[in-house]
Amino acid sequence: MSDDSGAGTGARMAVYQALDTLEDYLIDGCRSGRPVPEFAIQEAADIPEQEAPAAMPRGSDSLDAIAAEAMRCQRCRLSAGRNRVVPGQGSSRPLVMVIGEGPGSEEDRTGLPFVGPAGQLLNRMLAAIDLSRETNCFIGNIVKCRPPMNRDPAPDEQTACMPYLDRQIALLRPRAFLAVGRIPAQALLGVKDGIGKLRGRVHQFRGLPLIATYHPSALLRDESLKRPAWEDLKLLKSILDDGSR
Ligand code: URA
Repeated sequence: MSDDSGAGTGARMAVYQALDTLEDYLIDGCRSGRPVPEFAIQEAADIPEQEAPAAMPRGSDSLDAIAAEAMRCQRCRLSAGRNRVVPGQGSSRPLVMVIGEGPGSEEDRTGLPFVGPAGQLLNRMLAAIDLSRETNCFIGNIVKCRPPMNRDPAPDEQTACMPYLDRQIALLRPRAFLAVGRIPAQALLGVKDGIGKLRGRVHQFRGLPLIATYHPSALLRDESLKRPAWEDLKLLKSILDDGSR
């Protein structure tokens, strides 16, 4: 039996907060203000084995664990057609978490996000504002398996995959999000507006700034979208520069 109801929970929370504050100052130089997790302890036998919690606190989860689970995942029909799961790639302490729609054929072949022509353009867009997946970005997707014929991921597929993204966000704690394309912008913001309406301003997601912009594939098809996409990147850069002052 656990001693959850009284002093035990209070003491655990106090120790957690002290350690958390110390970690924030050691790593970031300031307090993060993220929420304290639920401290009521669940008996191990009560936790269903196959279902990982949507957002586990840091310390009991890892990017590798998420990737390993995603690689075994059969929560939706996309698992049947995939060659590789694409869990995401990048810095484990990113300034920005870039979120796309889902893997295409190159990503399905390699297991890495945004490696096709759109990915190469995305790399250049990020580099223009001093970002890269090698140093200060993490790149993920709304769904981690390729939708057949590059169709949009269906709402139930997005819902099935979201717990993985939630856990990645909880671990990565980026300073801001960049949603590239309509699907991630709508999925994260819970709205149905088109990307033309969602771009060009700062949204809030999980208490952090989110910029939505055109998907790099759209920019490859339509040059005229490059100018507004550049405006969006400058907006993101201004948020990051503000936060570092
Ligand atoms: N398009 C996306 O949205 N994500 C990828 O990983 C690749 C292409």
